[in-house]
Amino acid sequence: MYIDTHNHFVPQGALRRLEGLGLLEWPVGGPALSVPGRQPMALVPDLWDEGMLKAHMQEVGFTHVSLMVPPFVTLYDLPGDLSLQYSQAYNDGVAEMQARDKSYFGLATLPLHDPEASAREVRRAVGDLGLKGVGIITHTKELEFSSPAMEPLYRAIDDLGVPIYVHPDVTNTVGGTRTSPYYLRNLVGNPSETALAMSHLLFSGVLDRYPNLTFVLSHGGGTFPWIIGRLDHGYEVRSESKIPRAHPSAYLRRFYYDTVVFNPTVLRSLVELVGSDRVVAGTDWPFDMGDVDPKATIEASFLSAADVENIMWKNAARLIKS
Ligand SMILES: [Zn+2]
Repeated sequence: MYIDTHNHFVPQGALRRLEGLGLLEWPVGGPALSVPGRQPMALVPDLWDEGMLKAHMQEVGFTHVSLMVPPFVTLYDLPGDLSLQYSQAYNDGVAEMQARDKSYFGLATLPLHDPEASAREVRRAVGDLGLKGVGIITHTKELEFSSPAMEPLYRAIDDLGVPIYVHPDVTNTVGGTRTSPYYLRNLVGNPSETALAMSHLLFSGVLDRYPNLTFVLSHGGGTFPWIIGRLDHGYEVRSESKIPRAHPSAYLRRFYYDTVVFNPTVLRSLVELVGSDRVVAGTDWPFDMGDVDPKATIEASFLSAADVENIMWKNAARLIKS
């Protein structure tokens, strides 16, 4: 068993339901999400063709994969109840895939701009449908992970005891227009976005209030693990950073970190910092910023055989309780 914890996919059952809701069209060439006030958003075949997903799994040598909504179509800001209906359509579709084929584990998407509705939906998606976790991005237009309005959602997920996979927002990343050239919005914006969001979470004391919350961070946690000394120093010297019960570094192991860092030395350093029982393999398929051969990256990191086993499947199996 090898588990790829970082994939993006839209199940056929979700496409069918979204078409029924009037949120999907099938122009020539494939489906496109069609939402009020926006240009249609085309979904490339890798995002919905299960045959391509299976071929990817075979190619990278993973027996199990997570299924998370693509980060550019979380659509938290749809008007009225549409965002909730969108989430339900996705979650029903991904639950069908998971029930049909044990090599998949589904992550629920949520109408994150409305934490009360998200709390109800996560209880349905995890409690009733059996999804294995939650997949959300780093913020909404109005809310950060530190926002008091998020408390009902944290309470619900804390009760359910499932992991929260956090992916950077890829459309409204930190840095704004300064990251427009050279694809910096992704190359620098994405990892910085994760650090900002996790700092909101940590300094607001959420991890003290909800001891069961576990976060799985994309792209090795971005820059978050690498600024932890600075966060610790701020905790010591700045009065506005004193809310958590302990230094930020004391919480590093409340997080899991995927392997999508593209550099064996960085990966080895991450394992030294957080422990091999806190790192999980990932590809970020099907995007061009994915790791096409995570096994090679992991094996080039000069880790012990036990560390490699932890990273390739044991940690993820513990997280999803399979
Ligand atoms: Zn991704």
